[in-house]
Amino acid sequence: MRLPDVDELLADVRVIALPMRTRFRGLDVRETMMIRATTGRVESWGEFAAFTEYDDAESAPWLACAIEQAWEQQPSIEERPLFRDEVPTNATLPAVDAAAVPAILERFGEFRTVKVKVAEPGQTLADDIARVRAARAFVGDSGRVRIDANGSWNVDEAEHAIRALEEFDLEYVEQPCTTIDELYEIRGRVHGMGILIAADESVRKAADPVAVARAGAADILVVKVAPLGGVRRALDIIDEAGLPVVVSSALESPVGLAAGFDLARRIEHLDYDCGLATERLFTGDETVSAERATWWRERAARCLTLL
Ligand SMILES: [Mg+2]
Repeated sequence: MRLPDVDELLADVRVIALPMRTRFRGLDVRETMMIRATTGRVESWGEFAAFTEYDDAESAPWLACAIEQAWEQQPSIEERPLFRDEVPTNATLPAVDAAAVPAILERFGEFRTVKVKVAEPGQTLADDIARVRAARAFVGDSGRVRIDANGSWNVDEAEHAIRALEEFDLEYVEQPCTTIDELYEIRGRVHGMGILIAADESVRKAADPVAVARAGAADILVVKVAPLGGVRRALDIIDEAGLPVVVSSALESPVGLAAGFDLARRIEHLDYDCGLATERLFTGDETVSAERATWWRERAARCLTLL
């Protein structure tokens, strides 16, 4: 990858704040940085969207993704073919009260798949059951319902919860537990129920994103282009893992989401709807204070030295 120098990197950047309609992943506002390559290209924006609590080492691949977007551009057709124009997406349901489910899902328009957040700290399994029931009622029998626990359960809790939620015909369970060993264990326990296990954090936060696939600890990989360092690297990881994938966002603005769509278009077999409709979770965008903009510029400069 051709890296810009720091002056080039920061020549035209904008930090924006995206207020969330509903608190999501502990966030009320999502901050993210737009970076424009000043090399005269037409489409030359990239997004550096590493969550603000991440350290520089974890954030650096996100910057690599932004640089690929803005400076290198997407792979050529010869390098990586395009398999589709349209990418089906799923609705994403935060860990809200069941009563709030219809109003939130209506904002996603037409969709057949909903991902329901479960195992939120401070909530109970009864809350999850009520929310998943409401989501299933909304999409009907022909819809697809998947759940995402963000690694919050231990193996016994996961088994208990999955058995309690089985009646809602789950498409898959995303990251029920944290570690690869735990995922392997829970996958074995629920395999007979026909429940599939998807890995998310075990891909994007792991030193080796393919380890979970190699260990036989997941049926599906959730692939997020920014934490994996860009479209090319994500495609290499998918090739190596050899598992079905779901391309999802990391709560980027539409600029960063475009890289996710580009990745999804280049995956030959895409059997699951992709989590790329997450802009519906935002109400709009706002500019940030000078202090926050400086914080982001300094962070981007530090991360550049790590690439
Ligand atoms: Mg997830």
